[in-house]
Amino acid sequence: MTPEQFRAHGRKVVDWIADYLASVEEHPVRAQVSPGEVRAALPAHPPEHGEPFDAVLADLDRVVLPGITHWQHPSFFAYFPANASGPAMLGDLLSSGLGVQGMLWATSPACTELETVVVDWLAELLDLPSRFRTDERGGGVIQDSASGAAVVALLAARQRAGEGRHRVYVSSQTHSSLEKAARVTGIGAENVRVVDVDPGSLAMDPEHLDRLITEDLAWGFVPTLVCATIGTTSTTAVDPVPRIGEVCRDHGVWLHVDAAYAGVAAVCPEFRWCNDGVAEYADSYVTDPHKWLLTNFDCSVLWLGDRAPMVEALSILPEYLRNAASSSGEVIDYRDWQVPLGRRFRALKLWSVIRWYGAEGLRAHIRRCGDLADRFADLVAADPRFDLDPHHPFGLVCFRPRWPGASQAESDAATTELMERLNDSGELYLSHTRARGHVVLRFAVGSPATEARHIDAAWQRIAAEYDAVMAERKDR
Ligand SMILES: *Cc1c(COP(=O)(O)O)cnc(C)c1O
Repeated sequence: MTPEQFRAHGRKVVDWIADYLASVEEHPVRAQVSPGEVRAALPAHPPEHGEPFDAVLADLDRVVLPGITHWQHPSFFAYFPANASGPAMLGDLLSSGLGVQGMLWATSPACTELETVVVDWLAELLDLPSRFRTDERGGGVIQDSASGAAVVALLAARQRAGEGRHRVYVSSQTHSSLEKAARVTGIGAENVRVVDVDPGSLAMDPEHLDRLITEDLAWGFVPTLVCATIGTTSTTAVDPVPRIGEVCRDHGVWLHVDAAYAGVAAVCPEFRWCNDGVAEYADSYVTDPHKWLLTNFDCSVLWLGDRAPMVEALSILPEYLRNAASSSGEVIDYRDWQVPLGRRFRALKLWSVIRWYGAEGLRAHIRRCGDLADRFADLVAADPRFDLDPHHPFGLVCFRPRWPGASQAESDAATTELMERLNDSGELYLSHTRARGHVVLRFAVGSPATEARHIDAAWQRIAAEYDAVMAERKDR
């Protein structure tokens, strides 16, 4: 493809995306295809001869689009958001256009230095401690995901802890990526200890953590890493980081703070409480601009208070990568801050986002989502057919329908049936979790496209579908 051909097709692609975003609401939110349908509509064998790019675009409309779940749809309320935005997409396109592989400073100095500036900017926007800044002993780095970041944090923690039988501490609400990290690093799932949570708030119990660590020390284990979560995946519960941090400090254990979804809310001063204790105690901290902060996947930022143990754990220097800049010690080689060697120029999209929106635009986005979530929560609270979880600070509202006279199992089945029917309708998409013994519905408001009318329409649809399920249950 020549540059002139690229220009012509590129314009069509940008137009395609703009049209898609302008009309995304016309699609059913969740893909309505059955397993294998997309695959069956595609040729089983690759073409022998090159095809025009228009043929790709035609198949995009014909085959791919029907198999897409529309994460940017204003009525997408499932899981957590995976925001995309114009500036992020354009930044990503520029990254593709440059085609840089930024494994070393020397393989593209700007790729490294722009990333350093952008992660320092984000630390400032979130009011994270200055020791996380690259000009001090710590530093931030863009990872593919919070899961990848957990592996890096655990490797650093193990490096600092030294040899021995390592133990990792999580709660039942901690993201599954921590157990995966324990498996991947060879520490093993059997060395992951599950700390109790408060049955009401679902926050980790620091006294139980203290007891488990003390017990492990007595048995000769090496307590290596504690993961505290700010905004759990299930219900956005917040672990008591200040108290957990004290326990970690008393025993010399690495504190990793997982704020993958909720951490970005700290762009707003009124949300800074969520990071209480981080400045004093966190050894590593991760948050995902690729969830709620308008930066399309993948963009997860991991900061460390001291980068040395991470670099010791991950640096490896084969002859073919030796270069004067690396030897000088004056540059950062981000390949030593992650598991893979190669890396994309992801800083471009985060840079574009921060520059386009500015701090005030980012704050406005978070606040708008919070207000819309409050609007939804008020609707639920006012309706005796539903129970609301009053904890919904971060745009996620958990609630469950009441099924009078139903057993626990019947009640959970009816809630699940209600959710499936709503999602099958294509009008909205929500997901579920299990909390405090019940199946609970999760309604996450995070899209810049969502307006009050989408919240109200979703609520009307939920209430109407509840009545329909209820009537059918009575008939059975
Ligand atoms: C989403 C989430 C993760 C995993 O994030 P990825 O970036 O998709 O790996 C980890 N922890 C929490 C609390 C999350 O909400």
